[in-house]
Amino acid sequence: MTRIDDLPIRDELRGKTPYGAPQLDVPVRLNTNENPYPAPDALVRRIAERVAEAARDLNRYPDRDAVRLRAELAGYLSRTTGHPVAPEEVWAANGSNEVLQQLLQAFGGPGRRALGFDPTYSMHSLIARGTGTGWVPGPRTEEFGIDPEAAVAAVHEHRPDIVFVCSPNNPTGTAVDPGTVLALHEAAQRAAPGPRGALVIVDEAYAEFSHRPSLLPLTEGRPLLVISRTMSKAFGAAGLRLGYLAADRAVVDAVQLVRLPYHLSTVTQATALAALEFADTLLGYVEELKAERDRIVAELRAMGCEVTESDANFVQFGRFADVPAVWRRLLDRGVLVRDNGVPGRLRVSTGTRQENDAFLDAVRAVMKEIS
Ligand code: PMP
Repeated sequence: MTRIDDLPIRDELRGKTPYGAPQLDVPVRLNTNENPYPAPDALVRRIAERVAEAARDLNRYPDRDAVRLRAELAGYLSRTTGHPVAPEEVWAANGSNEVLQQLLQAFGGPGRRALGFDPTYSMHSLIARGTGTGWVPGPRTEEFGIDPEAAVAAVHEHRPDIVFVCSPNNPTGTAVDPGTVLALHEAAQRAAPGPRGALVIVDEAYAEFSHRPSLLPLTEGRPLLVISRTMSKAFGAAGLRLGYLAADRAVVDAVQLVRLPYHLSTVTQATALAALEFADTLLGYVEELKAERDRIVAELRAMGCEVTESDANFVQFGRFADVPAVWRRLLDRGVLVRDNGVPGRLRVSTGTRQENDAFLDAVRAVMKEIS
């Protein structure tokens, strides 16, 4: 039997494992920060209509530049952030993972490095590796925030070509304030290894769940500041695979140099357009999830857990001496949460009220067992 290590794969991939959380069939699945609400019936019908219409044209390649979709995404961003965004300042791809990969293909690569603040979304470093870009971990505070002085010092020390700021951050839930992003952006430009500056990518996958406004207005007059977004979380459309970015139109032009032609299928574009028609309804669910998230934080604290402040649709909690044992005990009670490898901590996604109750009951029981 041929094994992966027998293959002439790139050296940096040798011995590595693919990204992925367990996809286990358990009653309460709260491990991948999905939105627990299925699409409402009216949206399902609208998707069927739009996809049926699009199906007639499947003999043709899709709109390569996704013009209508980008216009609708620009409208959504303008409406929800109060900051005007033009369709030419938006780019879309198959999930924000692909958006990030395209950015690193265009702005990273061999001989270049990206800096991000660990613990953070692990795909940032994995996409760096996949594109041959170096990865430098930056510091976080004890409370998992970013201290502007320490962060700026790390940028000056490592002189990255790309800086990742994940806000709200996965897996900790912590948001970054605009002043810190501006300080990082300024430092990144001053310390940039090349004459044309460094790219700052703000990953706002969970922006809609935050107590704070989007960082999007910071892009004004800053062509090297990029905001990355997704329909996987707030729109409850993880299965759709639709991510997008907002940035200066030159950045949008740059990613078009590396995107595969026709990367966004006609079916994906039609489905995303249908979901965007229901943005207000779906944002109503987001409000419910935010209230549930705040309830989880309060109840875990009342049980004596240490809980990280959360601006996302998930909550980091602990501290546990034996994290894998607690994870397993919760699973034995039918509740799947995530061990992200952060010492002493687990992460739970916000589910429906019933799922959250089941999770909280399970934690209560486990806390009793281990105390
Ligand atoms: N950014 C962050 C911070 C995430 O947590 C995720 C999903 N877990 C993504 C990006 C990617 O999401 P998608 O590819 O589904 O848009």
